[in-house]
Amino acid sequence: MSGRDRISRALTPVTGRLSGKPYKSIRNTLGKGTGEKRGQARYSAFDLFRRGFTKDPWPPVWREHELSSSYDVVVVGGGVHGLAIAYYLAHRHGITNVCVLDKSYVGSGGSGRNTAIIRSNYLTPDGVRFYDRSVKLYENLSAELNFNVMFSQRGHLTLAHNDSSLRTMRWRAEVNKLENIDSEVIGPEEIKKLVPYLDVSSEPRYPILGALYHPPGGIIRHDAVVWGYARGADTAGVHIHQNTEVVGINVSSGRVTGVRTNRGDISAPIVVNATAGWASLISNMVGVRMPITTSPLQAAVTEPVKPFLNTVVVSGSLHVYMSQTDRGELVFGASVDPFPSYSMRGSLDFIEGLASHVLELMPALSKMRVLRQWAGLCDMTPDYSPIMGFTPVEGFLVDVGWGTYGFKAGPVSGEAMAQLIADNKTPQIIEAFALERFGTGELLGEKGAASVGH
Ligand SMILES: Cc1cc2nc3c(=O)[nH]c(=O)nc-3n(C[C@H](O)[C@H](O)[C@H](O)COP(=O)(O)OP(=O)(O)OC[C@H]3O[C@@H](n4cnc5c(N)ncnc54)[C@H](O)[C@@H]3O)c2cc1C
Repeated sequence: MSGRDRISRALTPVTGRLSGKPYKSIRNTLGKGTGEKRGQARYSAFDLFRRGFTKDPWPPVWREHELSSSYDVVVVGGGVHGLAIAYYLAHRHGITNVCVLDKSYVGSGGSGRNTAIIRSNYLTPDGVRFYDRSVKLYENLSAELNFNVMFSQRGHLTLAHNDSSLRTMRWRAEVNKLENIDSEVIGPEEIKKLVPYLDVSSEPRYPILGALYHPPGGIIRHDAVVWGYARGADTAGVHIHQNTEVVGINVSSGRVTGVRTNRGDISAPIVVNATAGWASLISNMVGVRMPITTSPLQAAVTEPVKPFLNTVVVSGSLHVYMSQTDRGELVFGASVDPFPSYSMRGSLDFIEGLASHVLELMPALSKMRVLRQWAGLCDMTPDYSPIMGFTPVEGFLVDVGWGTYGFKAGPVSGEAMAQLIADNKTPQIIEAFALERFGTGELLGEKGAASVGH
């Protein structure tokens, strides 16, 4: 059996076909404006001042609701993806009879555990265009949500330690430039100017030969993005249900009819799987098998020090990356743990390996103390690209496969999935990410640009 046949067979769902297709005649039945809207306090210096004097309390950022017995759209997963879908459905398309279900609290998954790197200097034109749209949405997000998401476009450096990495950097830079992305290969002297503490001499075991420099890249406050989308969605009438676990999905004659939760059943013609690390468990509930394995990804943070690192630095060869937060802490990350697991615990092995690689890049950090480490789950696909859109079960949609790099895609995915639901048609910007590509063998070649780089 060829590799392609094997993938097709592995993906064949219980319905016996691999033909992601739009659901039938749902669009006209989607409720518009059925959710209960509310005025939202506007965050402003004036209101801060006023409430300080009047002792008028700030309203909760989002409200608690009773679980309704039916919604037009049920989004499973209250991370950045699920919340962004709900937000854009409500604000761009007026579809507000929507709920977001999370088995824990919003942002408890990867969205509250990531290292918040945003960039668009990917390798494939499809990837570059997609992530660039997200960067553009992020640039305006604080104003749009009236919530400071602290997007700091401080520049992103991907280091090359050997000739083949340098060649890949050049390739990426060329693809990026063709897509109008600010991205270029720079040499050790320019790198030293940007990051004076980096050892760019020929002494290290892996000397730095050059880097891909991407000025619009940077970091963001991940919790603020999650809370901002939740607040915006709630304002438009979306119901956010925390501590509500989906334990089953009802399917009748090949189409979704609702979900079963630990708090009761909900009927819905559209169910969106936005559960990242848990994505295959949810898809299994409707018999749609996904080419996804789940692996832990760890990160760590140091005690705060004075600002000295004004750029995000990534080394694929050393499997490490770092940035400095506005509070002065150094945030470090690496690649996924080398085995699939649903464990979210840090390991000694990780922090030892991380420390040794960080010190190869910046020996001056040897006296810094690590404050804490943590782990989240990553839904890895074979081509390091997401899976978005229709599935063989009508009304069951997926926004998954976000691996180690999905936080930056929250806004564009939310926008595109909301568009797909409203139009019952796949928007062009996500056409390349359809589930069908694993059946036809049209995989995307993003691996080199996405693995440790986030
Ligand atoms: C350590 C680490 C560093 C990372 N760094 C970056 C980075 O720098 N840049 C970047 O772009 N990406 C990064 N990522 C990846 C990024 O965090 C994820 O891809 C992204 O957050 C996925 O968002 P999401 O909304 O799809 O899923 P999540 O935020 O994981 O949300 C999924 C939600 O689904 C809920 N859920 C699961 N099962 C059920 C169920 N049965 N019923 C109801 N709810 C359920 C979970 O509770 C969870 O809250 C990193 C990830 C980790 C772990």
